[in-house]
Amino acid sequence: MTVLTIADHRRGDLRDVSFELLTAGRELADAVGTDLHAAVISGNVEEFADDLNREGVDQIHTVEYGEEFNHDVYAQAVTALTEDLGAEFLLVPNSVNGLDYAPAVATRLGRSYASDAVGLDYDGTLEVTREMYGSKVETTVEVTEGPFVASVRSGEWPAAEGVGDADVSAFDFDVDEDAVGSTVKGFEEVGGGDVDISEANFLVSIGRGIEEEENLELVEALVEATGATLSSSRPIVDNGWLPKNRQVGQSGKQVTPDVYLAIGISGAVQHVAGMKGADTIIAVNTDPNAPIFDIADYGVVGDLFDVVPALIEEFGGEPP
Ligand code: FAD
Repeated sequence: MTVLTIADHRRGDLRDVSFELLTAGRELADAVGTDLHAAVISGNVEEFADDLNREGVDQIHTVEYGEEFNHDVYAQAVTALTEDLGAEFLLVPNSVNGLDYAPAVATRLGRSYASDAVGLDYDGTLEVTREMYGSKVETTVEVTEGPFVASVRSGEWPAAEGVGDADVSAFDFDVDEDAVGSTVKGFEEVGGGDVDISEANFLVSIGRGIEEEENLELVEALVEATGATLSSSRPIVDNGWLPKNRQVGQSGKQVTPDVYLAIGISGAVQHVAGMKGADTIIAVNTDPNAPIFDIADYGVVGDLFDVVPALIEEFGGEPP
């Protein structure tokens, strides 16, 4: 029995979820009493393998092929490696890439598959906790037989740390070029800008409480004074005031910053689904009954047009 995790990278950087998977994988491997293997496919695999070599990882496999994610290559390589290792548990990121190839791999291997896993408990059988319907419902999937594939949500496990002593080896595998039906020609950011809010440590997030587009200037001054990254709830994006890549939530991005400062955001379930993994949540809202206060660690019941200028000054900035 082996636990195998697959790393995720984009434009030359490993994504945080790759290291979180190592923690989830190590916990599962300990419960099962087996080894943890990790794999990285495409890009600068040697550098990536060095970075993935964290405490608790027993073996790292690399597959050299191109620079960026390719569905067919990943599906082929992950299937072949899982079979080669006889890995019982395959954990992949619940990311755009992971969601793309995980079902294909599960189908090729004839295995069960659960997406969006937020908990993995093993006690003779594996129980996978998943959230559904925008995090309104939590379900437990009991895996009663056979090997298993799960895509694991980012932000649910801490990143593995320390320097490990894993063996690193190139997986001896030839891509079947005839079965590669797509080629990545390049990238274009949707909605403009190159900010990835899912990687930010401190998000200042604005909601409909801001009222007018020109008032965004106020929040931008706070962002500048604090060195935070700006994100928003959906109405701000729907209004065209910020690009789509700034939207937090069920139909936006999932974020896991150290600090999430929600300003004029009510805390609708679809928004909370994207940010409840933040370490510290601070909310500013005029309505003491706003649902955001149910999950906030700190709350200010107040008008953002008073609170934000005071915060800007506190951080040494100048309100517009
Ligand atoms: P509102 O709910 O209107 O809240 C504004 C808040 O600002 C209120 O609580 C109010 O008290 C407060 N306020 C007003 N004036 C002030 C002031 N001067 N100072 C301080 N506070 C003030 N939403 C998302 O955010 N992300 C998603 O990904 C997403 N996906 C969705 C997917 C589906 C299928 C559906 C149906 C909905 C989705 N939504 C999403 C929309 C979601 O249901 C809410 O409508 C949205 O999150 C509300 O945004 P808001 O909190 O900014 O606005």
